[in-house]
Order: sequence, then C-alpha cells, then structure tokens
Amino acid sequence: MSESQDPTSPEGAKQRVWDPIAGFGVTFRTMFKKVVTEQYPFEKLPTAPRFHGRHQLNRWPDGLEKCIGCELCAWACPADAIYVEGASNTEDERFSPGERYGRVYQINYLRCILCGLCIEACPTRALTMTNEYELADDNRADLIYEKSDLLAPLLPGMEQPPHPMRLGDDEGDYYRGTTR
Ligand code: SF4
Ligand code: SF4
Repeated sequence: MSESQDPTSPEGAKQRVWDPIAGFGVTFRTMFKKVVTEQYPFEKLPTAPRFHGRHQLNRWPDGLEKCIGCELCAWACPADAIYVEGASNTEDERFSPGERYGRVYQINYLRCILCGLCIEACPTRALTMTNEYELADDNRADLIYEKSDLLAPLLPGMEQPPHPMRLGDDEGDYYRGTTR
C-alpha cells in the first residue's frame, strides 16, 4: 500500500480532507453555469441536417414512384426491419417508370436502428431519411409503417399514380435525368 492509499499516513489524511472540497468545487462551479435542460416536447429544436430520422419513399417530378421493388434495401438491413414485395407495372396501371414497382413496402420501427444502410443500398435513391425523430407510440402495430405512411407527399405538378410516364419515353429518360 502506498503512502497516499494509507488513510493513517499524513498524505492519506490530506487527501481525506482535500477530496470532498474538490468534489464540492465541481458542484459549486456548475451552479453558476447556464442550465442546458431542453424543454422537449414543448420546444422542438432542429436536428443536425444529416440526422437519420424516419424514412421517405421518393417520387419523380410527375408523381411516379422511384421504388422499383428490388428489395436491395431489405437485404442490406442488419435488423431485418424492411419488408418489400415487388410487382410488375402494366401499361394500364403504372406506378413507377420501368418494369417493376414496390407493391408492398413496410418498415418496422420496433426493429430499425436508423443506421442508414438501406438508403445506401437503394439504386434509385427512392429511399432516403428525413429528420423526423418522433417515432414513439403506445402500441406495436402502429410502429410498422406501411408504404402509404412512407411515400413522399404529392407536390404541385405531381399526379397520383397509377398513370403513364409523363416525363420521358422510357425509364432510361428518368434514370439518366434526360426527362422533358
Ligand atoms: S436504417 Fe438500418 S435498421 Fe433501419 S431499416 Fe434501414 S438498414 Fe434497417
Ligand atoms: S427502396 Fe430502393 S432498394 Fe428498396 S426496394 Fe425500393 S428501389 Fe429497391
């Protein structure tokens, strides 16, 4: 045992007196610092711009969906939180440019860890993440978000699918950005 650890030594006695003073010194200094308590949920502060929040399924400017139902996001997810069922577009009923679209799309926020691997895997930038972080609920079922919960809202100039491709002759025009 060193001298400073021996409570009966002069060094140990000095520490017994000094340690509480140093400890209360921290408390005393903190009393005069600005309080950092955040008043959530009464005051909501913006997140960092790249904060990973709720997902969004994006649209092309004519309203068609960018998701092609490829399931790459589901395969990339380490938490098995995404479920996708693709289906084929037809000329009478088109939801996305190209051959396929996501008929069923679900994200289970009971599992999701908001890591962002799914959005990295998406080949069409259909899937991105918003800054929305209020993902709590009082039942499990409502935390499984359906496609209708995740789809981006229709902006002015967009039309609710199904409808034909308005911006190009084929999906290549959409993917290459040569839309009219
Ligand atoms: S953010 Fe991560 S955990 Fe959540 S769905 Fe995407 S890949 Fe899965
Ligand atoms: S969101 Fe992207 S990766 Fe997932 S199914 Fe749709 S196109 Fe594929």
